Amino acid sequence: SAPQTTASLFGIDTLLSEEERDMQATVARYCTDRLRPNLADWYEAGDLPARELATELGDLGVLGMHLEGYGCAGTSATAYGLACLELEAADSGLRSLVSVQGSLAMFAIHRWGSEEHKQEWLPRMAAGEAIGCFGLTEPDFGSDPGGMRTRARRDGDDWVLDGTKMWITNSPIADVAVVWANTDEDEGSRGIRGFVVPTDTPGFSAPEITKKLSLRASVTGEIVLQGVRLPASAMLPEAAGLSGPLSCLNEARFGIIFGAVGAARDCLEVALSYVGDREIFGKPLAAYQLTQAKLADMSLELGKAMLLAIQLGRIKDAGTIRPEQISLGKLNNVREAIAIARECRTLLGANGITLEYPVLRHANNLESVLTYEGTSEVHQLTIGKALTGVAAFR
Ligand code: FAD
Repeated sequence: SAPQTTASLFGIDTLLSEEERDMQATVARYCTDRLRPNLADWYEAGDLPARELATELGDLGVLGMHLEGYGCAGTSATAYGLACLELEAADSGLRSLVSVQGSLAMFAIHRWGSEEHKQEWLPRMAAGEAIGCFGLTEPDFGSDPGGMRTRARRDGDDWVLDGTKMWITNSPIADVAVVWANTDEDEGSRGIRGFVVPTDTPGFSAPEITKKLSLRASVTGEIVLQGVRLPASAMLPEAAGLSGPLSCLNEARFGIIFGAVGAARDCLEVALSYVGDREIFGKPLAAYQLTQAKLADMSLELGKAMLLAIQLGRIKDAGTIRPEQISLGKLNNVREAIAIARECRTLLGANGITLEYPVLRHANNLESVLTYEGTSEVHQLTIGKALTGVAAFR
């Protein structure tokens, strides 16, 4: 009988609507035609034509696709997740571009911005004509963003921002940055606040971070703020305190829950095809029991991760998802995806270490995915707190 895929073994199609499957297929086609032929080169060069790709992704309709109005498609969360899955099956860097644009920068403006912020930025960002970034992490504050040193102080009606953000996806190429800063010294301004900062504002710079061994097909930089003067209207009026940035992170984490499944699926597909062709001790590698045990275990974890992603998509679409449920998905799916990528690499032997195959590229990318958007440990602590009622973060 014809070989089955993990998706067919688990009957995944029965869980998705025709509209969701069509949209997934459209994104998959774009990835096959446009991204896959170039990924190894972009990865090796540590460079990609991000502006060009952003407008193409805008045409494809995936930038801010789960948001309503302002040129956004307004799809279900599950449909957005499936788009992330296909993009990350190509490369986590491309999914990062889309996540940061749609779930972090656009979502922040859509959820917390003024009507003027939305009109000014969202239509251009949905079209990929303007690129956004999201500056929360600092050199000394990643898992604990509440300790941030970036300050916004009042000067007349204006705000003046000083500080440094680190590890900011897209910052060197961005047109607009959503920057989170502490306003504690300003009475009545309620702690951490978000600011919409056009990147051509004097005092703003974003040097690129180079020598990365992970997410090489993604632009990463710092944000240096030296006396960046902004009008009062630059502040996101609706967000006060850490709940503002955390709400955006939950959106991006949701995309990762699906995205990680894509990276793992791609590795497993490549490994399956490889073991069918590779002859060792006179027969195909696929015919050995040890190989089949590896494949069965990986397929099982992949299918379970997909079921978890779809379940979380449905409760997100119902509007009832809680942060600890997002943590379950991010923790499990990224942890299992990186384990699958590494196991697939063993099946490819020495060939597995090159860019001829996507497997080690995915595994290396997933090291970043394991760390950003809340590390695995932070998600364990979040789930632990939900189970015990006791916070063990500090
Ligand atoms: P740390 O917080 O220093 O953590 C180090 C280790 O300590 C980890 O293993 C962690 O799990 C562990 N740890 C932390 N707290 C605890 C605890 N309470 N108990 C036990 N162990 C603990 N940030 C942005 O704001 N915007 C972006 O666009 C962005 N893009 C990124 C792109 C890339 C490629 C990368 C790698 C990172 C990006 N980040 C971005 C930053 C990312 O969110 C942080 O790296 C992440 O939050 C972890 O922070 P850290 O690196 O400072 O690690």
